[in-house]
Amino acid sequence: MLPRILWLFVDGIGLGPQAGSNPFAIEPTPALRALLGGPLTVERVGAGAGWSLAALDAALGVAGLPQSATGQTALFTGENAPALLGRHATAFPGPRLRAVLAEHSVLRRAAAAGRQVTFANPFTPRYWEMVEARERRLSATTCAVLASGARLRDLGDLRRDEAVTWDVCRDHFGGLAGEDLPPVPALDAGRHLAGLLADHDLVLWETFITDLAGHHRFGFTAAEALRRVDGLLGGALAALPADATLIVTSDHGNLEDASHTRHTRNPVPLLAVGPLAAELAGAQSLLDVTPAVLRALGVAPS
Ligand SMILES: [Zn+2]
Repeated sequence: MLPRILWLFVDGIGLGPQAGSNPFAIEPTPALRALLGGPLTVERVGAGAGWSLAALDAALGVAGLPQSATGQTALFTGENAPALLGRHATAFPGPRLRAVLAEHSVLRRAAAAGRQVTFANPFTPRYWEMVEARERRLSATTCAVLASGARLRDLGDLRRDEAVTWDVCRDHFGGLAGEDLPPVPALDAGRHLAGLLADHDLVLWETFITDLAGHHRFGFTAAEALRRVDGLLGGALAALPADATLIVTSDHGNLEDASHTRHTRNPVPLLAVGPLAAELAGAQSLLDVTPAVLRALGVAPS
């Protein structure tokens, strides 16, 4: 049986030192600390019983602060998007990066090889109206999902607990979408993600509350963002099937340095828990994650 992978993409978390300006060193994060024997900081890089933590270069040989559009494209395709553009590009991918995502994304290539892939985040009718009205641009993950042919999850999936919102607990998501959604505990959201492994080989979920907190935007504090992400991680780990591997990655640093509100050039974590942990421990940059995931899923390189 092929290994199954639950991939949690957590925007804007780098590996910083265990110091007083690092929220990971300050906040409780019980799930991370129980797993790693300490906070998610650069001191924990290495491996333990069933887990590994690698420090991934996010700068990819390009000057300046790593940014979301290029970092996410690099992460989800293995292609050096910042080198392609000659710069780190912020926020949403433009036409060149969208083309790279459409052709090379881990979702499209895994789906083309017959693997069952899904994106766990739900979309609302309001979201598509805003895209249509050009009030919103497609994220890297949305471009990748659309090109993969995978079904887009919606509010029906969410109400059946078969989707998890970017804010984990549904309150901010529901408010923005104009939908009345009872909040869910972070632990349950993590269980819902693990549940999707029952009929998928690769489940991808994304959150950007961590990047928002690092920028001091949208009312998310570091404490609240980490409480939610750590709670979700705890729920997912508790419900993770024994043959499945959970991975946590990011696109660039931000939250781990509370001394300013910008991105950082710190490495980002590749945390792996499960049978593939040892194999993923050797990853060195954002470019290594998609090839490693595809290898693990038995998908030939293209
Ligand atoms: Zn950011």
